[in-house]
Amino acid sequence: MSVAVVLFTSDLRLHDNPVLRAALRDADEVVPLFVRDDAVHRAGFDAPNRLAFLADCLADLDAGLRERGGRLVVRRGDAAREVKRVVERTGAASVHIAAGVSGYAAKREERVREALEGTGCELRAHDAVVTALAPGRVVPTGGKDHFAVFTPYFRRWEAEGVRGTLTAPRTVRVPDDVSGDELPDRDAIKNLSPGLARGGEIAGRKLVTSWVNGPMADYEDGHDDLAGDATSRLSPHLHFGTVSAAELANRAREKGGSGGEAFVRQLAWRDFHHQVLAARPDASWSDYRARHDRWRSDEDEIDAWKSGRTGYPLVDAAMRQLAHEGWMHNRARMLAASFLTKTLYVDWRVGARHFLDLLVDGDVANNQLNWQWVAGTGTDTRPNRVLNPVIQGKRFDPRGDYVRRWVPELAELDGAAIHEPWKAEGLDRAGLDYPDPLVDLAEARARFERARGLD
Ligand SMILES: Cc1cc2nc3c(=O)[nH]c(=O)nc-3n(C[C@H](O)[C@H](O)[C@H](O)COP(=O)(O)OP(=O)(O)OC[C@H]3O[C@@H](n4cnc5c(N)ncnc54)[C@H](O)[C@@H]3O)c2cc1C
Repeated sequence: MSVAVVLFTSDLRLHDNPVLRAALRDADEVVPLFVRDDAVHRAGFDAPNRLAFLADCLADLDAGLRERGGRLVVRRGDAAREVKRVVERTGAASVHIAAGVSGYAAKREERVREALEGTGCELRAHDAVVTALAPGRVVPTGGKDHFAVFTPYFRRWEAEGVRGTLTAPRTVRVPDDVSGDELPDRDAIKNLSPGLARGGEIAGRKLVTSWVNGPMADYEDGHDDLAGDATSRLSPHLHFGTVSAAELANRAREKGGSGGEAFVRQLAWRDFHHQVLAARPDASWSDYRARHDRWRSDEDEIDAWKSGRTGYPLVDAAMRQLAHEGWMHNRARMLAASFLTKTLYVDWRVGARHFLDLLVDGDVANNQLNWQWVAGTGTDTRPNRVLNPVIQGKRFDPRGDYVRRWVPELAELDGAAIHEPWKAEGLDRAGLDYPDPLVDLAEARARFERARGLD
């Protein structure tokens, strides 16, 4: 019997998985392996919300494999060492993995390749598994290795087209004599956000079907409506790969309409950030474009931002949603990030770290590069724009319902007045457990402009 190993990483699914498909083509038996990598733990990347979502994903993947006659083998330790052990035990001739984009993923791939040297087993990394289009598949004319501007990237992304969708296998035969550890137990994980979503391929696929056949139609008009909560919430599934970006793009395209088109464009934004990171892995913690900022670092202000007590209702609503759900609306993320980096003029890395500690979709490519985009050290072509929380509130939460949901202290304020509680007549501010604004917006803006040499 020939054997192949599938090292699952950010592709925890049976449907549309080129890695699993290739392994099944290669061999009679397959070892579906997931390694809980010590390196992820050492990097502080195994935040409780993501660990819990991961536990759901692994349980679901195991169940799906069992329905097909197989099972998932989970190990803990060093990914390269565990792969080698499984290869030595089974005599596998190939190991299959999704090509990753982060520095960590590239290093893992390199270490697995090294570990397999001399075993006669080859490593095959598959493209367009984590993203819809592989990083580097389209590059600008003129010799650059990645696009730094989204619009020309998107033009080429569309022209290139997304690969076709693969079906899930019917049977997966796993060798008997490969042992694994227990699956992680979600209930044993502490400090979870109370409103955390459930993970797993089944939940992800249900969400895709209901999204594509329903609310997606209104996405173009509704995606910025904070109270309407009218986005797909598929980001954690895309992060863990329980939903395939390529299949999702194909399904949205097939459904069509302006909502479908607008949604596919967002999936291309995801690919865009991934291709930037693949070419510039250092951008995970270093400025993509240095602006020579001398960031401020006021711990009280940073704490007020983290705990949703800045006195700016929209910023506070955003930060409280993050703490409660481990997720935040995109418009809210932009505002919260702009407030930290431009209004408080605090290093984007401080905010990115806090987001990574809580976000269930926390993702090096999307998180770090969006933070850099907002901070003006990334790919934004208008690096010095500052979002004003009052104007943003009136525009994207005109009735104030998003703020009312997350900042109940202010619930008695009507409509958009909730965005400026300091102006509310008759409000007993002394009796209210809600802080005064942390900073004056005009002064903070002037400080930022001075710092960036724009005055
Ligand atoms: C400061 C900041 C930090 C962010 N951190 C993350 C992160 O860690 N992980 C993450 O997945 N997204 C991140 N984003 C991007 C975006 O906010 C989320 O992807 C989106 O809010 C997820 O909600 P959704 O699935 O309902 O999105 P939808 O509006 O339904 O969009 C569909 C999908 O498109 C992709 N997408 C949408 N907008 C973006 C974007 N601006 N950049 C990249 N991909 C996008 C996501 O995969 C998303 O799931 C961040 C944005 C900002 C401004």
